[in-house]
Amino acid sequence: MTTPATSPTAVDAVIIDYNGVIGRQPSTLMWRCLAALAEWPADQLDSFRDAFWAPREAYDAGELSDLAYWAKVLGHHPSPRWLRTLIAADTAMWTGTDPFVLDTLYLARAEGLPMVLLSNAPAHLSNVLNATDWRRELMDDALYSARLGLCKPDPAAYEHALAATGVDDPSRVLFVDDREDNCQAAAELGLRTLHYTGQLADLAQELLPAPADSFGA
Ligand SMILES: [Mg+2]
Repeated sequence: MTTPATSPTAVDAVIIDYNGVIGRQPSTLMWRCLAALAEWPADQLDSFRDAFWAPREAYDAGELSDLAYWAKVLGHHPSPRWLRTLIAADTAMWTGTDPFVLDTLYLARAEGLPMVLLSNAPAHLSNVLNATDWRRELMDDALYSARLGLCKPDPAAYEHALAATGVDDPSRVLFVDDREDNCQAAAELGLRTLHYTGQLADLAQELLPAPADSFGA
């Protein structure tokens, strides 16, 4: 029996997004709790979300401090204590993970597949994610927008992540993300892509080796 020159899967490494793939989207209840902590009118959740998202890319990119971000959301500067409460609730909202996705990644890791996390995340969340067991056990590296100073779909973000995989040929690296625009930017750099829409079978098909033929030679 010969050892295959390449990995048993179709790719040699994976670059994977966090939220919407590994991380679960926050529930409406979580949004309501955060809005309440922000002292937003209870019947105006949509406007809170608009205020939350408007400065988020700059926050993710490390261009805004925690205080500057929340001052933009609230329209005024919160007290230090209030700010700590908002940061903690915001961070907690994004730390729930999908156990089935993690199980699939652990199986792929057991096959020796290198993995790099590439996430648009503010600094505080990136610190929390970096301290998790799955980050340490699964990922060869983890790149966060706030640390890179740039967000997906900036091509430079993918170039940093590709370098972190140690694989030279982008066509041998799979990029997984729940945002189509992020996948499109990766494809333009020659990466293989999986636009993840919550179908675990799609992820397993890409990351895990195909079952061997029962009576194969
Ligand atoms: Mg995502």
